[in-house]
Amino acid sequence: MHIQTRLVHNGGGPDPATGSIAPPLHLSTNFERSADGGYARGYIYTRMQNPNRDALELCLMNLDGGQESVAFASGTGAIVALLQALEPGAHAVLGEDLYFGTAKSLRALVEPWGVKLSFVDATDPARVKAALTPQTKLVFVESPSNPFLKITDLAALAEIARKGGARLAVDNTFATPVLQRPLELGADAVVYATTKYLNGHSDALGGAAVFKANDEFANKVRMIQGLGGGVPSPFDCWLLLRGLRTLPLRMREHCANAARVAAFLQSHPAIKTVHYPGLESHAGHAIARRQMPGGFGGMIAAQVKAGRDGALAAVAKAKVFLRATSLGGVESLIEHRASTEGPGTRTPDDLLRISVGIEHADDLIEDLKQMLG
Ligand SMILES: *Cc1c(COP(=O)(O)O)cnc(C)c1O
Repeated sequence: MHIQTRLVHNGGGPDPATGSIAPPLHLSTNFERSADGGYARGYIYTRMQNPNRDALELCLMNLDGGQESVAFASGTGAIVALLQALEPGAHAVLGEDLYFGTAKSLRALVEPWGVKLSFVDATDPARVKAALTPQTKLVFVESPSNPFLKITDLAALAEIARKGGARLAVDNTFATPVLQRPLELGADAVVYATTKYLNGHSDALGGAAVFKANDEFANKVRMIQGLGGGVPSPFDCWLLLRGLRTLPLRMREHCANAARVAAFLQSHPAIKTVHYPGLESHAGHAIARRQMPGGFGGMIAAQVKAGRDGALAAVAKAKVFLRATSLGGVESLIEHRASTEGPGTRTPDDLLRISVGIEHADDLIEDLKQMLG
């Protein structure tokens, strides 16, 4: 069956006990043991397993076509677990245009644990290849990346990683499995901030890692989930499954709206540069066309001619767009990215990051018109 059909029925059908169409929410932290001391129904304690988390993990695993999936309390939790699954002494190559928080967390937590990190421009496969050492166990990239929406050739990187004895993991948060399918392009793992598009309603924090094979690496991440304890709550799992039912529908609208907004921004005299992989002028457009068959996504970065003051002045006038960080919700957001990231940011001061929502494109364009003057 097609993704959209499977997602609508992602709760596993009516509840066998009551016939409820919406899946029941299992808030219980602990589960009854049988008289013989066993666990006939498979559940012991919610940090280890929970019916709502099981349903979510099964859905995410099938969505990407993987063989294992591990849910976390945040996207950062999933990414840190992936790197923590490497042994001290191992080396990882990371794309340099990664979500600011990811680079910060990995430097603070994973480097002291003894995993060496090299940040390179992953849009050039030759640089990734050159950065590999005999100790390299993981290549980790975002495509589209954050905040520049750079495109990396994932099939090329999968080949380079494989030949170098390393795994390729892709943060697919911006694209979602509806637009881009990294495991089918040769990646070994995909991670998500499910907080963003997969949930889609800005009301549940979460993360997940999905693996091509249920191997030693996946088992290690599963162990970190249970023993580390960074698990999502049953209600967040329930909310995520609810959000996922409309993911294909929402992504269609995000893509269509973003294409219109990007074209409008590109034609506007106050704008210096628009970064959107759907534009023919984008450096990664040809690769994106091939590797994102479902569309180019809802994220746009735009640099304004009037610099930091001009960018902040534009954002101050927003009416339909909301001034907030994060992305992937139904509502359109705009932010001055450098000041969100704060000290150590690599983002230019004139850059606005836009998460295009599912409002009517005409209303979004009208709002941007009055913001940019
Ligand atoms: C938000 C985000 C993360 C981090 O996810 P959290 O749920 O905020 O921890 C990781 N990667 C990308 C691309 C993101 O946008």
